[in-house]
Amino acid sequence: MTRARVLGAGVAGLCVATELVARGCKVSVVDPAPRPGPHGCSWWAGGMLAPFCEGEAAEEPVVRLGREAAGWWRRQGVAVEGRGTLVVTLGRDRRELDRFARRTEGHRMLDEAALAALEPELAGRFDRALYFPDEAHLDPRAALGHLRDRLAGEGVAFAAEPGGPADLTFDCRGLAARDVLPDLRGVKGEMAVLRAPEIRLTRPVRLLHPRFPLYVVPRGDGRFMLGATQIESDERVRRVRSVLELLSAAYALHPAFGEAELVEIGADARPAFPDNLPRLGRRGDTIHVNGLFRHGFLLAPALARMAAEAASDGTRPELWHEDHG
Ligand SMILES: Cc1cc2nc3c(=O)[nH]c(=O)nc-3n(C[C@H](O)[C@H](O)[C@H](O)COP(=O)(O)OP(=O)(O)OC[C@H]3O[C@@H](n4cnc5c(N)ncnc54)[C@H](O)[C@@H]3O)c2cc1C
Repeated sequence: MTRARVLGAGVAGLCVATELVARGCKVSVVDPAPRPGPHGCSWWAGGMLAPFCEGEAAEEPVVRLGREAAGWWRRQGVAVEGRGTLVVTLGRDRRELDRFARRTEGHRMLDEAALAALEPELAGRFDRALYFPDEAHLDPRAALGHLRDRLAGEGVAFAAEPGGPADLTFDCRGLAARDVLPDLRGVKGEMAVLRAPEIRLTRPVRLLHPRFPLYVVPRGDGRFMLGATQIESDERVRRVRSVLELLSAAYALHPAFGEAELVEIGADARPAFPDNLPRLGRRGDTIHVNGLFRHGFLLAPALARMAAEAASDGTRPELWHEDHG
């Protein structure tokens, strides 16, 4: 394979294009939108690279393959914050923290003093926390823009319509690929961005709550991303109740969020297969990379590597589905 066409310039398509260029392919990227933006699910992501926390609900490949992510993004020149993740619960939900600890790895329990040393703003509000020191986060919009501009600088053509011939096509259209992948479904996620310069949280914090789980990701410049609902729906509508629940949970995490400026509210549907694991697969001259669910930035690097390897040496990696679609 020397000429590859990538359909879709979300996180999956940009990571695949990056891996193909690194292997010497001549790559073109087709996307109706000229740049990464609110039309794509990747725009709304939190940017958490949290394989261990995700292991609470996700299967083993997510944890293992997700460990490649932080290093991969750093090697592409993307700013990755490696400050770990904190997980806390409100007093009445204490048992949730023990349950989370049992279901995950790569953490240690902090007492109140250790938590205060790490994140002073949480002192006095939480008497213990789980700390995942090897997790990281990035700014997803900056990361997408960086990959896109670097690929263009390396000679990758971006266009709204397919141009010249290609030996192989990589279909990374996210939910739009349902026309050929009928068991792909949407799982709606709503998020908000708040500006609260007086809050000095420096790492992602997850608040476990039986009904309204929340995470807060610092974006710098006093801004915080709050995420995310998880609803079986492919609508992209922002519903009042979901957003109120997100905002209330943020207020419970840190009362100063009550005075924050509401910068943005967003929603999109994550592309997911029935088992919530991503899939690679081939049909004719097309390789599909899809179903990244909650793990686009976490898993796209590994999936892109595996897709590029499969295309160049014919191997059939894990998560591969023959005659896909
Ligand atoms: C609120 C929220 C928070 C999230 N937080 C995180 C997180 O913290 N960490 C994490 O790893 N993941 C997170 N995710 C998940 C992540 O955003 C998704 O897994 C990821 O964006 C899916 O990427 P994708 O490239 O498959 O799809 P998309 O980003 O949707 O990209 C698909 C692209 O295909 C293009 N396209 C559509 N039709 C065509 C066509 N006919 N031809 C060519 N191109 C086409 C679209 O324009 C789009 O650019 C979050 C998701 C949500 C909604």
